[in-house]
Amino acid sequence: MSGPTSPEEFQKQMQEFLQKQFKGFSAPGFAGAAPSGTDTTPEPEPKRDAFEFAHKPRDVKAHLDRFVIKQEEAKKVLSVALCDHYNAVHQAFEGEEQGHYTKQNVMLIGPTGVGKTYLIRSIAELIGVPFVKADATKFSETGYVGGDVEDLVRDLVRQADGDVERARYGIIYIDEIDKIASASEQHGGRDVSGQGVQTTLLKLMEETEVPARSQHDMAGQIQAMMEGMRGGKKEGDTINTRHILFVVSGAFAHLDKIVGRRLKESAIGFAANSQEVVEGGRILEHAKTPDFIKFGFEPEFIGRLPVRVVCHPLSVDDLEAILKTSEGSIIRQYKQSFAAYGINARFENNGLRRIAELAIDEQTGARGLMTVCEKVFRDLKFELPSSRVREFAVDDALVDDPKTVLQTLLENAPEQEAAEVDETLQQFADAFTEQHGLTIAFTADARKRLASLAGESSLSVYDFCKSHFRDLHFGLKLISGNTGTTEFELDESFAEDPDTALSERVVASYKSKKV
Ligand code: ADP
Repeated sequence: MSGPTSPEEFQKQMQEFLQKQFKGFSAPGFAGAAPSGTDTTPEPEPKRDAFEFAHKPRDVKAHLDRFVIKQEEAKKVLSVALCDHYNAVHQAFEGEEQGHYTKQNVMLIGPTGVGKTYLIRSIAELIGVPFVKADATKFSETGYVGGDVEDLVRDLVRQADGDVERARYGIIYIDEIDKIASASEQHGGRDVSGQGVQTTLLKLMEETEVPARSQHDMAGQIQAMMEGMRGGKKEGDTINTRHILFVVSGAFAHLDKIVGRRLKESAIGFAANSQEVVEGGRILEHAKTPDFIKFGFEPEFIGRLPVRVVCHPLSVDDLEAILKTSEGSIIRQYKQSFAAYGINARFENNGLRRIAELAIDEQTGARGLMTVCEKVFRDLKFELPSSRVREFAVDDALVDDPKTVLQTLLENAPEQEAAEVDETLQQFADAFTEQHGLTIAFTADARKRLASLAGESSLSVYDFCKSHFRDLHFGLKLISGNTGTTEFELDESFAEDPDTALSERVVASYKSKKV
């Protein structure tokens, strides 16, 4: 087999190879359908809208208030920092940049599940910029590859539906940043190659050009090579991280001790009320750069995170408020998922309180609410949609013992009204016709009997019929084949015992065929 004799020949062979190897592969100038040699017009540049930003800190905070409960200070500081950042981005895009703008990357300090991610995600949604979240432990555990960290930037492009321009001012959120602090007195000698990761992150946070395609992605590399052959670099080849906002967060266990020790040793004026600060649980608000360096961060790294915000643990009252007032409350989801089956879940105050109380025990902040609700509603979500229960109260009794309450609900479910039964049976008959091409109708006696049989079970009439008549179509199709009939009236005997009634009619249909 001879090698390619010209660049065109090479391109052609490569195109065939790639299309075999990577389904859907295409590179500009390598579109499978285009006859080779005809693709001389350059790809049109994607149309770009200027980056618009017209929010004020108060508007941003008002938006956050709709979703995030408490964390008032964090909401204010973040609103200001993000408005500053995006005003600077806007000015840079308009060519109005004044001198060198120092990026206001953000560090969020606080325990898990208190709304750190939720705050940033909500702001990203409001502003309409792509958002990516990652876990810093991922970088260290795998022995850390530079490419991994850069993948975050490429993920932004994915989040922006391939729009490299929008990715340039997205938000990258890195959780568990405290885990990449290098070994220090606080870590008992544990080393997680934190320093190396910090250095790489530092480069990203500052300004660097990230290749739009990963070195670990074979198809991407070959695609890049092809584009290079066809006419040098294009604008989309790299993503500049200058305008990307970095937000890092962590629980920073033990940082309070470092801060406390410094406070005790430092200014006499502060020592007087330091006890008050410690007891108020507000000690982390006093964390300063030297504390973070002692914790295990490089001075350059921590220096790139000038905005530091503390998010506080949530109390039972806060968790209850989240359930009741946050627009993102999971209660809305539960209400909606029951409503989809025509069931009204009425959340009572004492039920919400009880959910919040149980959630606190989970010690995972607002995440505990999901854990508790998942357990409480597990069986209800399975059983109720097929039952006759159309309404139930979520009160403390149900939260404490969902299984028993469910049993009572099923046992006491009211029988369906005659008119409702008739309507349901008509729906069942219509669905049967659509599926099997045979028309069925129930006599008045059959309808009555079915309602009462369904009443003895815990099922709705519809779900009862689905299981009661699961083999009906086999028999009716046989009869239809023998007699040509496609319309069937089902009397009480069918309601009582469909298998026996059906066998009798099938036998009769064979007899009538013989005659
Ligand atoms: P973390 O602080 O660990 O980043 P998240 O922000 O991811 O926690 O919180 C998990 C979920 O809990 C959020 O998606 C949200 O539904 C809920 N939540 C957490 N904190 C709050 C809060 N302060 N107000 C309203 N909901 C919250």
